[in-house]
Amino acid sequence: MSTAQIATLDGREVPLTAETLETFREGFRGQILEQGEPGYDDARKLWNGMHDKYPALIARCSGTADVVAAVNFARDQGLLLSVRGGGHNVAGNAVADGGLMIDMSLMRGVHVDAARKTARVQAGARWGDVDRETQLHGLVTPGGEISTTGVAGYTLSGGMGLLHRKWGLACDNLLSVEIVTAAGDVLTASEGEHPDLFWAVRGGGGNFGVVTSFEYRLHQLGPEVFAAAVIYLADNGEHILNKWWEFTRSSPDEVTGQIILWTVPEIPEIPAQYHGKPAMFVLGMYAGPVEDGVRVLQPLREIEEPLLDLSEAAPYVMHQSGFDDFFPDGALYYWKSLTVDALSDQINRIMLRQLSERPSLETPLVLRHLGGAMGRVPEDATAYGNRSAQYNISIDGRWSDPADSETNIAWVRKCWDELYDLSGGGVYLNFAGFAEDVDSLARAGHQKNYDRLRQVKRHYDPTNLFRMNINIKP
Ligand SMILES: Cc1cc2nc3c(=O)[nH]c(=O)nc-3n(C[C@H](O)[C@H](O)[C@H](O)COP(=O)(O)OP(=O)(O)OC[C@H]3O[C@@H](n4cnc5c(N)ncnc54)[C@H](O)[C@@H]3O)c2cc1C
Repeated sequence: MSTAQIATLDGREVPLTAETLETFREGFRGQILEQGEPGYDDARKLWNGMHDKYPALIARCSGTADVVAAVNFARDQGLLLSVRGGGHNVAGNAVADGGLMIDMSLMRGVHVDAARKTARVQAGARWGDVDRETQLHGLVTPGGEISTTGVAGYTLSGGMGLLHRKWGLACDNLLSVEIVTAAGDVLTASEGEHPDLFWAVRGGGGNFGVVTSFEYRLHQLGPEVFAAAVIYLADNGEHILNKWWEFTRSSPDEVTGQIILWTVPEIPEIPAQYHGKPAMFVLGMYAGPVEDGVRVLQPLREIEEPLLDLSEAAPYVMHQSGFDDFFPDGALYYWKSLTVDALSDQINRIMLRQLSERPSLETPLVLRHLGGAMGRVPEDATAYGNRSAQYNISIDGRWSDPADSETNIAWVRKCWDELYDLSGGGVYLNFAGFAEDVDSLARAGHQKNYDRLRQVKRHYDPTNLFRMNINIKP
Protein backbone atom coordinates (compact mmCIF):
# COMPACT_ATOMS: atom_id res chain seq x y z
CA MET A 1 0.00 0.00 0.00
CA SER A 2 1.32 3.48 -0.94
CA THR A 3 1.90 5.74 2.04
CA ALA A 4 2.97 9.06 0.55
CA GLN A 5 3.27 11.85 3.10
CA ILE A 6 1.09 14.95 3.01
CA ALA A 7 1.33 18.18 5.03
CA THR A 8 -1.43 19.12 7.44
CA LEU A 9 -2.84 22.42 8.63
CA ASP A 10 -1.19 21.99 12.02
CA GLY A 11 2.28 21.63 10.53
CA ARG A 12 2.65 17.83 10.60
CA GLU A 13 3.23 15.35 7.82
CA VAL A 14 0.90 12.38 7.82
CA PRO A 15 0.74 9.28 5.65
CA LEU A 16 -1.70 9.37 2.77
CA THR A 17 -2.80 5.80 2.35
CA ALA A 18 -3.68 4.31 -1.01
CA GLU A 19 -7.16 3.66 0.32
CA THR A 20 -7.79 7.30 1.26
CA LEU A 21 -6.41 8.44 -2.05
CA GLU A 22 -8.53 5.95 -3.94
CA THR A 23 -11.68 7.26 -2.27
CA PHE A 24 -10.71 10.80 -3.31
CA ARG A 25 -10.02 9.69 -6.89
CA GLU A 26 -13.37 7.91 -7.17
CA GLY A 27 -15.30 11.09 -6.46
CA PHE A 28 -13.25 13.21 -8.86
CA ARG A 29 -13.67 13.73 -12.61
CA GLY A 30 -10.54 15.81 -13.40
CA GLN A 31 -6.98 14.67 -12.73
CA ILE A 32 -5.36 13.93 -9.39
CA LEU A 33 -1.59 13.99 -9.76
CA GLU A 34 1.11 12.71 -7.45
CA GLN A 35 4.83 13.36 -7.76
CA GLY A 36 6.33 11.34 -10.61
CA GLU A 37 3.09 11.12 -12.58
CA PRO A 38 3.00 12.53 -16.14
CA GLY A 39 1.88 16.17 -16.03
CA TYR A 40 2.78 16.67 -12.36
CA ASP A 41 5.85 18.82 -13.02
CA ASP A 42 4.11 21.10 -15.48
CA ALA A 43 1.12 21.51 -13.18
CA ARG A 44 3.17 22.42 -10.09
CA LYS A 45 5.24 25.09 -11.87
CA LEU A 46 4.49 28.74 -11.24
CA TRP A 47 5.24 31.68 -13.46
CA ASN A 48 7.86 32.97 -10.95
CA GLY A 49 10.94 30.75 -11.29
CA MET A 50 11.86 31.56 -7.66
CA HIS A 51 9.40 28.92 -6.50
CA ASP A 52 10.24 25.26 -6.76
CA LYS A 53 7.63 23.61 -4.55
CA TYR A 54 6.28 20.08 -4.56
CA PRO A 55 2.68 19.56 -3.48
CA ALA A 56 1.92 16.02 -2.35
CA LEU A 57 -1.22 16.10 -4.50
CA ILE A 58 -2.50 18.27 -7.31
CA ALA A 59 -6.25 18.22 -7.87
CA ARG A 60 -6.85 19.50 -11.41
CA CYS A 61 -10.54 20.32 -11.27
CA SER A 62 -12.85 19.91 -14.26
CA GLY A 63 -15.81 21.71 -12.69
CA THR A 64 -17.43 22.92 -9.50
CA ALA A 65 -18.18 19.39 -8.29
CA ASP A 66 -14.46 18.58 -8.34
CA VAL A 67 -13.72 21.73 -6.36
CA VAL A 68 -16.28 20.67 -3.75
CA ALA A 69 -14.72 17.18 -3.60
CA ALA A 70 -11.23 18.62 -3.14
CA VAL A 71 -12.28 21.15 -0.48
CA ASN A 72 -14.17 18.47 1.45
CA PHE A 73 -11.19 16.11 1.22
CA ALA A 74 -8.75 18.78 2.44
CA ARG A 75 -11.01 19.85 5.30
CA ASP A 76 -11.89 16.33 6.48
CA GLN A 77 -8.25 15.23 6.39
CA GLY A 78 -6.98 18.54 7.88
CA LEU A 79 -4.63 19.13 4.93
CA LEU A 80 -2.56 22.15 4.03
CA LEU A 81 -4.40 23.55 1.01
CA SER A 82 -3.57 26.03 -1.73
CA VAL A 83 -5.50 27.29 -4.73
CA ARG A 84 -3.99 28.03 -8.12
CA GLY A 85 -5.68 30.28 -10.68
CA GLY A 86 -3.31 31.46 -13.41
CA GLY A 87 -0.22 30.77 -11.25
CA HIS A 88 1.14 34.29 -11.82
CA ASN A 89 1.38 35.58 -8.29
CA VAL A 90 4.96 36.52 -7.43
CA ALA A 91 4.50 35.44 -3.79
CA GLY A 92 3.98 31.83 -4.88
CA ASN A 93 1.13 31.01 -2.49
CA ALA A 94 -0.65 29.06 -5.20
CA VAL A 95 1.43 25.97 -4.33
CA ALA A 96 1.37 24.41 -0.88
CA ASP A 97 4.70 22.63 -0.46
CA GLY A 98 3.90 19.08 0.63
CA GLY A 99 0.15 19.79 0.74
CA LEU A 100 -2.83 19.66 -1.61
CA MET A 101 -3.04 22.12 -4.48
CA ILE A 102 -6.41 22.80 -6.09
CA ASP A 103 -5.53 23.66 -9.67
CA MET A 104 -8.18 25.60 -11.61
CA SER A 105 -6.22 25.82 -14.84
CA LEU A 106 -8.36 23.28 -16.74
CA MET A 107 -11.39 25.53 -16.17
CA ARG A 108 -10.85 28.33 -18.69
CA GLY A 109 -14.31 28.77 -20.21
CA VAL A 110 -15.60 32.27 -21.02
CA HIS A 111 -19.25 32.82 -21.93
CA VAL A 112 -20.31 36.26 -23.14
CA ASP A 113 -23.91 37.44 -23.02
CA ALA A 114 -23.60 40.30 -25.50
CA ALA A 115 -27.17 41.49 -25.03
CA ARG A 116 -26.85 41.81 -21.25
CA LYS A 117 -23.20 42.93 -21.54
CA THR A 118 -21.96 40.36 -19.07
CA ALA A 119 -19.39 37.57 -19.14
CA ARG A 120 -19.22 34.45 -17.00
CA VAL A 121 -15.57 33.44 -16.68
CA GLN A 122 -14.25 30.25 -15.13
CA ALA A 123 -11.56 30.76 -12.52
CA GLY A 124 -8.70 29.15 -14.42
CA ALA A 125 -9.00 31.60 -17.33
CA ARG A 126 -6.29 34.07 -18.27
CA TRP A 127 -6.93 37.64 -19.38
CA GLY A 128 -6.09 36.67 -22.97
CA ASP A 129 -9.01 34.20 -22.88
CA VAL A 130 -11.42 36.87 -21.65
CA ASP A 131 -10.28 39.63 -24.02
CA ARG A 132 -10.53 37.28 -27.01
CA GLU A 133 -14.15 36.36 -26.31
CA THR A 134 -15.39 39.78 -25.18
CA GLN A 135 -13.74 41.60 -28.11
CA LEU A 136 -15.65 39.41 -30.51
CA HIS A 137 -18.59 41.63 -29.52
CA GLY A 138 -16.61 44.86 -29.14
CA LEU A 139 -16.89 44.54 -25.37
CA VAL A 140 -14.36 44.64 -22.52
CA THR A 141 -14.04 44.35 -18.79
CA PRO A 142 -11.01 45.96 -17.13
CA GLY A 143 -8.33 43.27 -16.91
CA GLY A 144 -4.59 42.70 -16.64
CA GLU A 145 -2.15 43.99 -19.22
CA ILE A 146 -0.27 40.73 -19.68
CA SER A 147 -2.44 38.20 -21.46
CA THR A 148 -1.22 35.20 -19.45
CA THR A 149 -2.12 36.63 -16.02
CA GLY A 150 -4.88 34.66 -14.30
CA VAL A 151 -8.22 36.39 -13.79
CA ALA A 152 -8.74 34.79 -10.36
CA GLY A 153 -5.89 36.05 -8.19
CA TYR A 154 -5.91 39.32 -10.12
CA THR A 155 -9.61 40.06 -9.54
CA LEU A 156 -9.77 38.82 -5.95
CA SER A 157 -7.12 41.32 -4.84
CA GLY A 158 -8.44 44.24 -6.93
CA GLY A 159 -6.99 44.19 -10.43
CA MET A 160 -5.59 47.32 -12.07
CA GLY A 161 -4.81 47.61 -15.78
CA LEU A 162 -5.34 49.98 -18.69
CA LEU A 163 -8.99 50.80 -17.99
CA HIS A 164 -9.34 51.21 -14.21
CA ARG A 165 -9.71 54.99 -14.37
CA LYS A 166 -12.60 54.67 -16.81
CA TRP A 167 -14.46 51.65 -15.42
CA GLY A 168 -12.84 50.79 -12.09
CA LEU A 169 -10.82 47.81 -10.93
CA ALA A 170 -11.60 44.28 -12.09
CA CYS A 171 -13.28 43.63 -8.74
CA ASP A 172 -15.48 46.72 -9.22
CA ASN A 173 -16.91 45.13 -12.35
CA LEU A 174 -17.97 41.93 -10.65
CA LEU A 175 -21.68 41.20 -10.63
CA SER A 176 -21.38 37.88 -8.83
CA VAL A 177 -19.10 34.95 -8.12
CA GLU A 178 -19.74 31.28 -7.62
CA ILE A 179 -17.67 30.16 -4.64
CA VAL A 180 -17.08 26.92 -2.75
CA THR A 181 -16.73 27.67 0.96
CA ALA A 182 -14.71 25.78 3.57
CA ALA A 183 -17.90 23.89 4.48
CA GLY A 184 -18.09 22.65 0.88
CA ASP A 185 -21.17 24.75 0.13
CA VAL A 186 -21.59 26.16 -3.36
CA LEU A 187 -22.76 29.76 -2.99
CA THR A 188 -23.52 32.59 -5.35
CA ALA A 189 -22.29 35.84 -3.85
CA SER A 190 -23.67 39.08 -5.26
CA GLU A 191 -25.22 42.33 -4.01
CA GLY A 192 -28.43 40.33 -3.44
CA GLU A 193 -27.10 37.01 -2.13
CA HIS A 194 -24.53 36.68 0.66
CA PRO A 195 -23.64 40.36 0.28
CA ASP A 196 -21.05 40.18 3.09
CA LEU A 197 -19.16 37.50 1.17
CA PHE A 198 -19.50 39.46 -2.07
CA TRP A 199 -18.08 42.51 -0.30
CA ALA A 200 -15.13 40.44 0.97
CA VAL A 201 -14.13 38.76 -2.29
CA ARG A 202 -13.83 42.16 -3.98
CA GLY A 203 -10.31 42.82 -2.70
CA GLY A 204 -9.97 40.29 0.12
CA GLY A 205 -8.13 37.68 -1.98
CA GLY A 206 -8.57 33.92 -1.69
CA ASN A 207 -9.43 33.97 2.02
CA PHE A 208 -13.08 32.98 1.79
CA GLY A 209 -13.28 29.95 -0.47
CA VAL A 210 -12.47 28.73 -3.94
CA VAL A 211 -14.09 30.91 -6.58
CA THR A 212 -15.14 28.74 -9.50
CA SER A 213 -16.44 31.51 -11.77
CA PHE A 214 -16.69 35.28 -11.98
CA GLU A 215 -19.51 37.23 -13.60
CA TYR A 216 -18.26 40.56 -14.98
CA ARG A 217 -20.01 43.66 -16.29
CA LEU A 218 -18.85 44.52 -19.84
CA HIS A 219 -18.42 47.85 -21.60
CA GLN A 220 -18.27 48.88 -25.23
CA LEU A 221 -14.71 49.43 -26.51
CA GLY A 222 -12.72 48.65 -29.60
CA PRO A 223 -11.77 46.67 -31.51
CA GLU A 224 -9.46 49.59 -32.48
CA VAL A 225 -8.17 51.55 -29.51
CA PHE A 226 -5.52 54.25 -29.42
CA ALA A 227 -2.68 53.87 -26.93
CA ALA A 228 0.49 55.87 -26.38
CA ALA A 229 3.74 53.89 -26.06
CA VAL A 230 6.79 56.13 -26.11
CA ILE A 231 10.36 55.36 -25.05
CA TYR A 232 12.52 58.24 -23.82
CA LEU A 233 16.09 58.15 -22.57
CA ALA A 234 16.15 58.76 -18.82
CA ASP A 235 18.87 61.43 -19.01
CA ASN A 236 16.27 64.14 -18.26
CA GLY A 237 14.36 61.83 -15.95
CA GLU A 238 13.15 64.49 -13.51
CA HIS A 239 11.76 66.59 -16.33
CA ILE A 240 9.96 63.60 -17.86
CA LEU A 241 8.50 62.54 -14.51
CA ASN A 242 7.29 66.07 -13.81
CA LYS A 243 5.70 66.39 -17.24
CA TRP A 244 3.99 63.03 -16.84
CA TRP A 245 2.76 64.00 -13.38
CA GLU A 246 1.43 67.31 -14.74
CA PHE A 247 -0.40 65.41 -17.49
CA THR A 248 -2.00 62.97 -15.03
CA ARG A 249 -3.32 65.76 -12.82
CA SER A 250 -5.73 66.93 -15.49
CA SER A 251 -6.19 63.86 -17.70
CA PRO A 252 -9.74 62.57 -18.17
CA ASP A 253 -10.96 59.20 -16.87
CA GLU A 254 -10.63 57.82 -20.40
CA VAL A 255 -6.85 57.81 -19.94
CA THR A 256 -5.28 55.15 -17.77
CA GLY A 257 -1.53 55.30 -17.94
CA GLN A 258 1.78 54.54 -16.38
CA ILE A 259 5.42 55.46 -16.65
CA ILE A 260 7.97 52.68 -16.43
CA LEU A 261 11.55 53.44 -15.42
CA TRP A 262 13.46 50.71 -17.18
CA THR A 263 16.11 49.91 -19.78
CA VAL A 264 16.39 50.67 -23.50
CA PRO A 265 15.53 47.35 -25.13
CA GLU A 266 17.82 45.73 -27.66
CA ILE A 267 15.54 46.05 -30.64
CA PRO A 268 16.50 46.98 -34.20
CA GLU A 269 14.23 50.04 -34.17
CA ILE A 270 16.59 51.71 -31.66
CA PRO A 271 20.27 52.40 -32.52
CA ALA A 272 22.63 50.00 -30.71
CA GLN A 273 24.48 52.85 -28.95
CA TYR A 274 21.41 53.35 -26.69
CA HIS A 275 20.78 49.70 -25.84
CA GLY A 276 20.95 49.00 -22.12
CA LYS A 277 20.76 52.65 -21.04
CA PRO A 278 18.17 53.79 -18.45
CA ALA A 279 14.87 54.57 -20.18
CA MET A 280 11.37 55.85 -19.43
CA PHE A 281 8.43 54.10 -21.09
CA VAL A 282 5.37 56.33 -21.16
CA LEU A 283 2.24 54.26 -21.73
CA GLY A 284 -1.42 55.20 -21.78
CA MET A 285 -4.64 53.82 -23.21
CA TYR A 286 -7.58 55.99 -24.25
CA ALA A 287 -10.91 54.30 -23.58
CA GLY A 288 -12.95 56.09 -26.24
CA PRO A 289 -12.94 57.04 -29.91
CA VAL A 290 -9.55 56.69 -31.60
CA GLU A 291 -9.47 60.28 -32.87
CA ASP A 292 -10.04 61.61 -29.34
CA GLY A 293 -7.28 59.35 -28.05
CA VAL A 294 -4.82 60.66 -30.64
CA ARG A 295 -5.53 64.22 -29.53
CA VAL A 296 -5.66 63.70 -25.76
CA LEU A 297 -2.54 61.51 -25.56
CA GLN A 298 -0.43 63.78 -27.80
CA PRO A 299 1.34 65.56 -24.87
CA LEU A 300 2.75 62.21 -23.70
CA ARG A 301 4.44 61.82 -27.09
CA GLU A 302 6.25 65.15 -27.14
CA ILE A 303 7.73 65.49 -23.65
CA GLU A 304 11.05 65.62 -25.50
CA GLU A 305 12.47 63.92 -28.58
CA PRO A 306 11.59 60.22 -28.10
CA LEU A 307 13.94 57.35 -28.81
CA LEU A 308 10.99 55.45 -30.22
CA ASP A 309 7.29 56.19 -30.49
CA LEU A 310 5.15 53.08 -30.91
CA SER A 311 1.85 54.85 -30.23
CA GLU A 312 -0.89 53.59 -32.50
CA ALA A 313 -4.49 52.67 -33.01
CA ALA A 314 -4.53 48.89 -32.82
CA PRO A 315 -6.88 46.10 -31.76
CA TYR A 316 -7.46 46.16 -28.00
CA VAL A 317 -6.24 42.55 -27.71
CA MET A 318 -2.93 43.62 -29.24
CA HIS A 319 -2.40 46.39 -26.69
CA GLN A 320 -3.32 43.89 -23.99
CA SER A 321 -0.56 41.48 -24.96
CA GLY A 322 2.10 43.84 -26.32
CA PHE A 323 4.31 43.44 -23.27
CA ASP A 324 3.94 39.67 -22.81
CA ASP A 325 7.47 38.95 -24.05
CA PHE A 326 9.00 41.29 -21.49
CA PHE A 327 7.77 39.10 -18.62
CA PRO A 328 8.83 35.56 -19.50
CA ASP A 329 7.54 32.54 -17.66
CA GLY A 330 10.16 31.03 -15.35
CA ALA A 331 12.42 34.10 -14.94
CA LEU A 332 13.19 35.18 -11.36
CA TYR A 333 10.96 37.82 -9.81
CA TYR A 334 10.42 39.69 -6.55
CA TRP A 335 7.91 42.58 -6.60
CA LYS A 336 6.79 45.02 -3.93
CA SER A 337 4.54 48.04 -4.16
CA LEU A 338 3.29 51.09 -2.30
CA THR A 339 0.81 53.88 -2.91
CA VAL A 340 1.37 57.63 -2.90
CA ASP A 341 -1.05 60.53 -3.20
CA ALA A 342 1.29 62.80 -5.12
CA LEU A 343 4.71 62.73 -6.64
CA SER A 344 7.41 65.05 -5.27
CA ASP A 345 10.96 65.99 -6.16
CA GLN A 346 12.11 63.69 -3.36
CA ILE A 347 10.18 60.67 -4.67
CA ASN A 348 11.29 61.35 -8.24
CA ARG A 349 14.95 61.60 -7.22
CA ILE A 350 14.81 58.38 -5.22
CA MET A 351 13.24 56.50 -8.12
CA LEU A 352 15.82 57.81 -10.58
CA ARG A 353 18.72 57.08 -8.24
CA GLN A 354 17.39 53.57 -7.63
CA LEU A 355 16.99 53.11 -11.38
CA SER A 356 20.71 53.69 -11.83
CA GLU A 357 21.63 51.54 -8.81
CA ARG A 358 19.51 48.47 -9.73
CA PRO A 359 21.53 45.29 -9.68
CA SER A 360 19.60 43.99 -12.70
CA LEU A 361 18.83 45.92 -15.89
CA GLU A 362 15.78 43.64 -16.33
CA THR A 363 14.09 45.32 -13.34
CA PRO A 364 11.52 48.08 -13.95
CA LEU A 365 10.03 50.57 -11.49
CA VAL A 366 6.41 51.05 -12.54
CA LEU A 367 4.47 54.16 -11.62
CA ARG A 368 0.74 53.72 -12.28
CA HIS A 369 -1.87 56.46 -12.31
CA LEU A 370 -4.86 55.50 -10.16
CA GLY A 371 -7.95 57.54 -9.29
CA GLY A 372 -10.82 58.14 -11.71
CA ALA A 373 -13.60 55.54 -11.47
CA MET A 374 -11.67 53.25 -9.13
CA GLY A 375 -11.06 56.15 -6.76
CA ARG A 376 -14.73 57.17 -6.65
CA VAL A 377 -15.90 53.83 -5.24
CA PRO A 378 -16.40 54.47 -1.50
CA GLU A 379 -13.59 53.05 0.64
CA ASP A 380 -15.96 50.71 2.51
CA ALA A 381 -18.02 49.58 -0.52
CA THR A 382 -15.65 46.66 -1.19
CA ALA A 383 -12.76 45.08 0.74
CA TYR A 384 -10.15 46.73 -1.50
CA GLY A 385 -8.29 49.34 0.56
CA ASN A 386 -6.41 52.51 -0.39
CA ARG A 387 -9.05 53.75 -2.86
CA SER A 388 -8.05 57.38 -2.53
CA ALA A 389 -4.37 56.89 -3.41
CA GLN A 390 -3.52 58.58 -6.70
CA TYR A 391 -0.44 56.57 -7.72
CA ASN A 392 0.99 53.10 -7.22
CA ILE A 393 4.72 52.46 -7.41
CA SER A 394 5.74 48.88 -7.93
CA ILE A 395 9.33 47.77 -7.83
CA ASP A 396 9.36 44.74 -10.10
CA GLY A 397 12.65 42.98 -9.39
CA ARG A 398 13.58 40.61 -12.22
CA TRP A 399 16.82 38.78 -12.95
CA SER A 400 18.02 35.58 -14.61
CA ASP A 401 20.83 33.99 -12.56
CA PRO A 402 19.80 32.32 -9.28
CA ALA A 403 23.18 33.37 -7.85
CA ASP A 404 21.90 36.98 -8.02
CA SER A 405 18.69 36.35 -6.07
CA GLU A 406 19.88 37.59 -2.69
CA THR A 407 21.30 40.84 -4.09
CA ASN A 408 18.17 41.60 -6.10
CA ILE A 409 15.73 40.82 -3.32
CA ALA A 410 17.78 42.94 -0.89
CA TRP A 411 17.77 45.81 -3.39
CA VAL A 412 13.98 45.68 -3.91
CA ARG A 413 13.46 45.74 -0.15
CA LYS A 414 15.85 48.67 0.30
CA CYS A 415 14.24 50.63 -2.53
CA TRP A 416 10.76 49.89 -1.14
CA ASP A 417 11.79 50.92 2.42
CA GLU A 418 13.08 54.24 1.16
CA LEU A 419 9.94 55.01 -0.83
CA TYR A 420 7.52 53.59 1.72
CA ASP A 421 8.69 56.21 4.25
CA LEU A 422 7.25 58.83 1.88
CA SER A 423 4.06 56.92 1.04
CA GLY A 424 0.54 57.12 2.45
CA GLY A 425 1.11 53.72 4.10
CA GLY A 426 -0.80 51.71 1.49
CA VAL A 427 0.31 48.68 -0.50
CA TYR A 428 -1.25 46.73 -3.37
CA LEU A 429 -1.71 43.08 -2.45
CA ASN A 430 -1.15 41.70 -5.95
CA PHE A 431 2.46 42.96 -5.80
CA ALA A 432 3.38 41.79 -2.32
CA GLY A 433 6.89 40.34 -2.27
CA PHE A 434 6.82 36.80 -0.90
CA ALA A 435 4.01 37.83 1.47
CA GLU A 436 6.46 38.19 4.34
CA ASP A 437 5.01 39.69 7.53
CA VAL A 438 1.55 38.83 6.26
CA ASP A 439 -0.39 40.53 9.10
CA SER A 440 1.14 43.95 8.43
CA LEU A 441 0.71 43.41 4.73
CA ALA A 442 -2.98 42.57 5.08
CA ARG A 443 -3.58 45.61 7.30
CA ALA A 444 -1.70 47.94 4.93
CA GLY A 445 -3.59 46.52 1.97
CA HIS A 446 -7.07 46.63 3.50
CA GLN A 447 -6.74 49.59 5.88
CA LYS A 448 -10.14 50.35 7.51
CA ASN A 449 -11.73 47.26 5.94
CA TYR A 450 -9.46 44.85 7.81
CA ASP A 451 -11.65 44.34 10.90
CA ARG A 452 -14.78 43.66 8.84
CA LEU A 453 -12.81 41.18 6.73
CA ARG A 454 -11.91 39.27 9.88
CA GLN A 455 -15.60 39.02 10.79
CA VAL A 456 -16.48 37.63 7.36
CA LYS A 457 -13.51 35.24 7.57
CA ARG A 458 -14.69 33.99 10.97
CA HIS A 459 -18.10 33.27 9.49
CA TYR A 460 -17.07 31.49 6.27
CA ASP A 461 -13.70 29.97 7.22
CA PRO A 462 -13.43 29.75 10.99
CA THR A 463 -10.59 27.19 10.93
CA ASN A 464 -8.58 29.11 8.33
CA LEU A 465 -8.58 26.30 5.77
CA PHE A 466 -7.80 28.94 3.12
CA ARG A 467 -4.54 30.30 4.51
CA MET A 468 -2.13 30.16 1.56
CA ASN A 469 -2.82 33.78 0.62
CA ILE A 470 -2.48 37.27 2.11
CA ASN A 471 -4.07 35.73 5.11
CA ILE A 472 -6.80 37.32 7.19
CA LYS A 473 -6.64 35.34 10.40
CA PRO A 474 -10.10 34.47 11.76
C1 LIG B 1 3.54 39.34 -15.78
C2 LIG B 1 2.54 39.82 -14.77
C3 LIG B 1 1.80 40.93 -15.05
C4 LIG B 1 0.90 41.41 -14.12
N1 LIG B 1 0.17 42.51 -14.43
C5 LIG B 1 -0.70 42.99 -13.54
C6 LIG B 1 -1.50 44.12 -13.83
O1 LIG B 1 -1.44 44.68 -14.92
N2 LIG B 1 -2.32 44.58 -12.88
C7 LIG B 1 -2.47 43.95 -11.67
O2 LIG B 1 -3.28 44.39 -10.88
N3 LIG B 1 -1.75 42.86 -11.39
C8 LIG B 1 -0.88 42.37 -12.27
N4 LIG B 1 -0.14 41.29 -11.96
C9 LIG B 1 -0.27 40.69 -10.64
C10 LIG B 1 -1.41 39.71 -10.62
O3 LIG B 1 -2.60 40.43 -10.44
C11 LIG B 1 -1.26 38.73 -9.47
O4 LIG B 1 -0.06 38.04 -9.62
C12 LIG B 1 -2.44 37.77 -9.39
O5 LIG B 1 -2.42 37.13 -8.16
C13 LIG B 1 -2.39 36.75 -10.50
O6 LIG B 1 -3.50 35.91 -10.44
P1 LIG B 1 -3.34 34.36 -10.78
O7 LIG B 1 -4.66 33.75 -10.69
O8 LIG B 1 -2.56 34.23 -12.05
O9 LIG B 1 -2.39 33.95 -9.59
P2 LIG B 1 -2.22 32.61 -8.73
O10 LIG B 1 -0.78 32.60 -8.36
O11 LIG B 1 -2.79 31.44 -9.39
O12 LIG B 1 -3.09 32.92 -7.46
C14 LIG B 1 -2.74 33.91 -6.54
C15 LIG B 1 -3.53 33.68 -5.28
O13 LIG B 1 -4.90 33.98 -5.53
C16 LIG B 1 -5.73 33.06 -4.85
N5 LIG B 1 -6.55 32.34 -5.83
C17 LIG B 1 -6.23 32.02 -7.09
N6 LIG B 1 -7.26 31.42 -7.69
C18 LIG B 1 -8.25 31.38 -6.80
C19 LIG B 1 -9.58 30.91 -6.82
N7 LIG B 1 -10.11 30.35 -7.91
N8 LIG B 1 -10.34 31.02 -5.70
C20 LIG B 1 -9.83 31.56 -4.59
N9 LIG B 1 -8.58 32.03 -4.51
C21 LIG B 1 -7.80 31.95 -5.60
C22 LIG B 1 -4.83 32.16 -4.05
O14 LIG B 1 -4.70 32.69 -2.75
C23 LIG B 1 -3.51 32.27 -4.77
O15 LIG B 1 -2.41 32.05 -3.94
C24 LIG B 1 0.75 40.76 -12.88
C25 LIG B 1 1.50 39.64 -12.61
C26 LIG B 1 2.37 39.17 -13.53
C27 LIG B 1 3.18 37.98 -13.21
